[in-house]
Amino acid sequence: MRRKAVYCNRLLVSSVKRRLGKPVQPTNAESDAHNYQRLIKYLPEPIFVHDGNEILFTNQAGLKLLNITEAEIAENERGFDFLHPDFRERSVARIQAVMLTDEPNEFLECKLIAKGGEIIDVEVSSTRIRNYPGRGTVIQTVFRDIRDRKKEEEALIQSEKLSVAGQMAAGIAHEIRNPLTSLIGFSKFLKTKIDQYHEYFDIMLVELDRINSIVQEFMALAKPQANQFKQHDLVKIIQNVLTLLETQAILRNVEIRLHADADSAELLCDENQLKQVFVNVLKNAIEAMPNAGLITINMKLRQSGGLWVEIVDEGVGIPLDQLPKLGGPFFTTKDSGTGLGLMICYRIIEGHHGKMDISSVPGKGTTVTIFLPKNG
Ligand code: ADP
Ligand code: MG
Repeated sequence: MRRKAVYCNRLLVSSVKRRLGKPVQPTNAESDAHNYQRLIKYLPEPIFVHDGNEILFTNQAGLKLLNITEAEIAENERGFDFLHPDFRERSVARIQAVMLTDEPNEFLECKLIAKGGEIIDVEVSSTRIRNYPGRGTVIQTVFRDIRDRKKEEEALIQSEKLSVAGQMAAGIAHEIRNPLTSLIGFSKFLKTKIDQYHEYFDIMLVELDRINSIVQEFMALAKPQANQFKQHDLVKIIQNVLTLLETQAILRNVEIRLHADADSAELLCDENQLKQVFVNVLKNAIEAMPNAGLITINMKLRQSGGLWVEIVDEGVGIPLDQLPKLGGPFFTTKDSGTGLGLMICYRIIEGHHGKMDISSVPGKGTTVTIFLPKNG
């Protein structure tokens, strides 16, 4: 293998030398190989020329795709090592078939293994090349890097799943409300008829009320609505969101404290959209603290009437190099994440002519700061 690659390089070197020196005519084979390699060297698609399992030449895009150098290609004994084992058998069959025709075969999805072990989703198509200098008939294989497309497809499937799950949950919430109404009504009725156990009735009524408000919040959030800008109290909006997330927080031993420097803060806004922002940001904060912790929400009124809300967690934090990626679609570090939450938050806050900033110290925690002007 090494010998073959060196042979190709030597062809290149000798033809370059000849050009620089006195005009010495290269042999036809040398100049053909040189011209061919020059032709494909800087093409944007990764291209490999190979004789069965043995790689003869790789262009720059190919080296980059596999994260290797020309020397490493030459050292590698078997080119198929770069193919994911699941695809080797099929690739051999496809190459055998393409040797019999001048037509390229159809692009087919497959996986490569780059140096370092990264698995790369690609599409691949091969064509035979006849009379390759010093070789005879060889194969030219072109790859298309489809990693981004794959990621987007997966995230779309995931978000579709979530929206279906959301719709179903909203339907279930609706179903819960009807029996709940009877339960609340009859508990109140019985309390007036029975002279003892009032403390139990009271507990039942408080708990039923809690279920009712969670269900109501949930339904309001799940229902798609057009922009509805009205005066709303931001303190109340945040309190309602806390009702919704309380259970999740308790399950993870997370405490959420709200410090507002006013009892109420009226604002022209879309209530449901802002709830969605706080649900997303608080859920991220809860998810960043797998082993308990404290989330502090600080709300400050500005003289202009605008509001600052700061959500501070004590979670894992965000590495510096990831900060610029936040809010980009599909950026997630979670196994079951969608990477859409923050993107939606940024959009909603922009729609309110506000601002959202995220700062973080890895290992210490993250602070999300949201500014909302008074009049949307
Ligand atoms: P998702 O929650 O589905 O991953 P988001 O858009 O809500 O999508 O968040 C994107 C990524 O930003 C998360 O996967 C996580 O890596 C990071 N992130 C967001 N908020 C926090 C936080 N409070 N603490 C640590 N990382 C966070
Ligand atoms: Mg999220």
